[in-house]
Amino acid sequence: MTHQPAIPTLTAADPEIAGLVEDEARRQAEKIRLIASENYVSQAVLEATGTVLTNKYSEGYAGKRYYEGQQVIDQIERIAIDRAKAVFGVDHANVQPYSGSPANLAAYLAFANPGDTVLGMSLPAGGHLTHGAGVSATGKWFNAVHYGVRKETGRVDFDQVRDLAKEHRPKLIIAGGTAIPRTIDFPAFAEIAREVDAVLVADIAHIAGLIAGGAHPSPVGHANVITTTTHKTLRGPRGAMIMTDAEHAKAIDKAVFPGLQGGPHNHTTAAIAVALAEAAKPEFRDYAHQIVANAKALGDALIERGFDLVSGGTDNHLLLVDLTSKQIGGKPAAQALDRAGIELNFNAVPFDPRKPFDPSGIRIGTAAITTRGLTAEHQPRIAEWIDRTVAAAAKEDEDAIGAIAGEVRELLSAYPIPGYRA
Ligand SMILES: *Cc1c(COP(=O)(O)O)cnc(C)c1O
Repeated sequence: MTHQPAIPTLTAADPEIAGLVEDEARRQAEKIRLIASENYVSQAVLEATGTVLTNKYSEGYAGKRYYEGQQVIDQIERIAIDRAKAVFGVDHANVQPYSGSPANLAAYLAFANPGDTVLGMSLPAGGHLTHGAGVSATGKWFNAVHYGVRKETGRVDFDQVRDLAKEHRPKLIIAGGTAIPRTIDFPAFAEIAREVDAVLVADIAHIAGLIAGGAHPSPVGHANVITTTTHKTLRGPRGAMIMTDAEHAKAIDKAVFPGLQGGPHNHTTAAIAVALAEAAKPEFRDYAHQIVANAKALGDALIERGFDLVSGGTDNHLLLVDLTSKQIGGKPAAQALDRAGIELNFNAVPFDPRKPFDPSGIRIGTAAITTRGLTAEHQPRIAEWIDRTVAAAAKEDEDAIGAIAGEVRELLSAYPIPGYRA
């Protein structure tokens, strides 16, 4: 048994599931995790998610619940809210959204009606499904208009944002996305939102930890509403928060409950509180800056090996690599990299001529490898592995790929993860 915390009772009661949990713990330890939306939570966060708090129903908010027995839960939720307010410097926080997608839905529900116009970043440019993509409820139920990036720079085209905003007068403008390697210019979005009287929603799901640690500018004071997941760079449990200025607080609370959800997941709320206490520590500032330093070092090393980075580099935790010049698609590359012990995802690049399920790029993030202690000096080695794997995949050389997996395991054995003991 190697999962931490140990799971002896689960192993006795349900060996099939326990065995798979152990397998996943080992897999997470032995692979180099470059999935930009993933991280490793601390043992304290893991323990909080596995508590009896999961047994409790608490529809409503602290002090006005629809179930009795909230003496303890109210305290936990208030602590989580206070910590969110302190870490991000906001007037108001709602810690109940089940995940990032429902958090965004709550913002729509609060400030738009079905059929209203919303303006978000397009999926191929780096936006999220919930920013009005056609396959998403947000694209089906709202009139979604999309901005993108400039072809030459790979950066948001603010002339286009302004033109679209003036033409379509959206109720909501959404700033942020899932595959944006550059600093998000919240003041520029805020200026446009003010011009057209739209509510500005900053979706900081990817960069919340960088903002908490001072490694990315904050949207506070610019965005009316800030949505975020808690499980990406912020390094908390799977969950979400919505933060607002005082003016927009009530509408968001009503949208989350009773508008969209029933009872909050109290074990998650407790784990969010734990993660926020970790994010308030000075070490977390070092962590956030190290994530960015690692991404820059990895980007430089990849460029040296002839890889094309969208926008030419990174300001944050994320790299978007266009593999066109390497004569391999994103999907076969990502699959070969997984066999080489390097876990990431295939991703569309802006103006991608290929289909979303077989796009031209891969997305890389450094939040998880930074948690396990890798630094800038390790990045040339990772770039070398990526380069060798991509070349081996093009030649269908499985032996070479297997050899890289061994080298990856060897390096990582010196950098344990919370949640697993070898
Ligand atoms: C991850 C992400 C979400 C959605 O979060 P889920 O928890 O997967 O629902 C929303 N917006 C952005 C920008 C994201 O990166």
